[in-house]
Amino acid sequence: MTRIGIFGGGQLAQMLTQAAISLAVETTIFEREADSPAGRLTQHEIVGQWDDPAALADFAAASEIVTLENEFVDAAILADLEARGLLVRPTAATLAVVQDKFLQKEALRAAGLDVPAFRAVGTPGDVLAAASQLGWPLVLKARRNGYDGYGNATVRNPDDLAAAWDRLARRGSQLMIEAFVPFERELAVMVVRGLDGEIRNYPVVETVQRDHICHVVRAPAPVDNAVTAQAVRLAVQAIETVDGVGIFGVELFQSQDGRVLINELAPRPHNSGHYTIEGCITSQFENHLRAILGWPLGRCDLRAPAAVMVNLLGRRDGPPAKDALKEALAIPGAHIHLYGKRASRPGRKMGHITVLGNSLAEAEALARRAADLVEL
Ligand code: ADP
Repeated sequence: MTRIGIFGGGQLAQMLTQAAISLAVETTIFEREADSPAGRLTQHEIVGQWDDPAALADFAAASEIVTLENEFVDAAILADLEARGLLVRPTAATLAVVQDKFLQKEALRAAGLDVPAFRAVGTPGDVLAAASQLGWPLVLKARRNGYDGYGNATVRNPDDLAAAWDRLARRGSQLMIEAFVPFERELAVMVVRGLDGEIRNYPVVETVQRDHICHVVRAPAPVDNAVTAQAVRLAVQAIETVDGVGIFGVELFQSQDGRVLINELAPRPHNSGHYTIEGCITSQFENHLRAILGWPLGRCDLRAPAAVMVNLLGRRDGPPAKDALKEALAIPGAHIHLYGKRASRPGRKMGHITVLGNSLAEAEALARRAADLVEL
């Protein structure tokens, strides 16, 4: 049986493993702590730090193909696995570009794709110099290891800068700035690319963030055909630019004048694609496996006129209640996913709900009603 090693054991690795089981593919999960959402689903659980040579050797021995559920694994570790003869997908070269937001944006800009204006910055003085060209506000970003807004700060004026700089510089990554985009809405597209270069895209969706965390996803995005076409073109060309293999999430901004810009790429399954499990003919997780195994890709079409996903974000600290789901299960057509995390905390992604319907409004009303009934 083919065995796929996955860096990370959270909900994305869990849903990949669920898809793998149906294709008779095994997974090995490499996570820092035991009893992760994905580690619990497999007999091959490697517990340790990704840069620990002994743990990495165990992981390599238990995997034929290696993939990842987040972009935080250093590309040098992937290159080490490639040097041992393992198939790593996406490749170390792709990850080296994508995991650094500055290198990623440079690659996209060099390919002629629209991104917000950006600069690398080494000191607060560099930010002031950039502001004199780009104006305020600016978005200060850690180049690496940011997620759910933890690596970002909107800097509205020079007085905001010191606190933002201190908070982000403490994370140990180099920093960059971007022009603030006063967007009309945020969009996303999942793109899957096979080993032979075949590329397919899922529908363009609208994403709504709350406190920088994905909250609601609406498929298809309620935008006109010109915006959809721009989003698809940018997303597909971005993944070709970084020579991606597997599934990628492409986050975009729709500006107030109808232009589309790329925010960032995620080299892995993505929260904006969870709706594909019930909403599309082939889920993002199954298509990722098909792509990295060199198998035929599946169709990406919606199964219904509309699908809406609402994240179940933690509301308090502590273990989730045993019967947290009970009332939500009474909502007709609500597909409920709980990731089985042992502890909740405010804003933590604990699960999600997808509802299909004849319109976005109908699906969203039910999905929100069900989500409100889950106590986490
Ligand atoms: P993360 O890696 O933490 O998800 P992102 O760079 O995707 O960080 O930013 C998270 C959110 O912050 C975006 O979804 C968007 O709402 C906002 N944001 C990021 N960059 C900009 C920008 N240049 N202009 C306006 N808003 C931004």
